[in-house]
Amino acid sequence: MDNFVLTLDLDWAADFMIDAVAQMLLAAGVKATFFVTHDSPAVRRLREHPDLFELGIHPNFLPNSSQGSTVAEILDFCMALVPDATSMRSHALVQSAHIWWEVVKRTPIQVDLSLLLPEMPHLQMIELPLLPRPLLRLPYYWEDDVETYRPHSVWTLDKHITVSGLKIFDFHPVFIYLNTADLAPYNDMKQIGHLADLTPEQVAPFIHTGEGAGSMFRQFVEHLKTQESLRVRDVVAAYQGIEA
Ligand SMILES: [Zn+2]
Repeated sequence: MDNFVLTLDLDWAADFMIDAVAQMLLAAGVKATFFVTHDSPAVRRLREHPDLFELGIHPNFLPNSSQGSTVAEILDFCMALVPDATSMRSHALVQSAHIWWEVVKRTPIQVDLSLLLPEMPHLQMIELPLLPRPLLRLPYYWEDDVETYRPHSVWTLDKHITVSGLKIFDFHPVFIYLNTADLAPYNDMKQIGHLADLTPEQVAPFIHTGEGAGSMFRQFVEHLKTQESLRVRDVVAAYQGIEA
């Protein structure tokens, strides 16, 4: 498979940010997979479009997680948020063999996308043998905040078009909304209050003009309009040779 695949980590974004991203995707008819951190009206609205939007879980295994204090508690919390989830990416990419064992024992999660291999060609599904069942792993190719760390960030899709293999992109609604090209404005904005509590008026001064994660996202969506877009569950189904 050589497809581009769109994934988004919610990371406790404000509802108006999630809604803005969902509206762009709905208008374009583009499929995406959202990794969910919390419950909110905007998250529930995503559920109204299962033909386009898959919801997976985004467990936070970092210390002081709001989702629980053990791996088991955090997984149970996330599965209560998205009972039909079959995909996951861990927040901050925290991963371990212990976590994978708990995932296959406690949850119906089939595939993990917590491995970032930036701009690596020829990426494909790999199966991690575990008991009582294997866990599929889909390495991913690009992430918006990681791009800001490059000395010369590139906010266009052009150089990725000819790369072979699965190219799974990871955007965050907050960085799309802020059109982030540098994390400093985002970090300043976080001083005002919790992300989920901010208003569009409070956020407006921190929106970047020019090229950034938002302009890249728009170009990505325009590109996906021209081809068959895929949710993660479609990639899994293709791998397993079944209909999603
Ligand atoms: Zn995250």
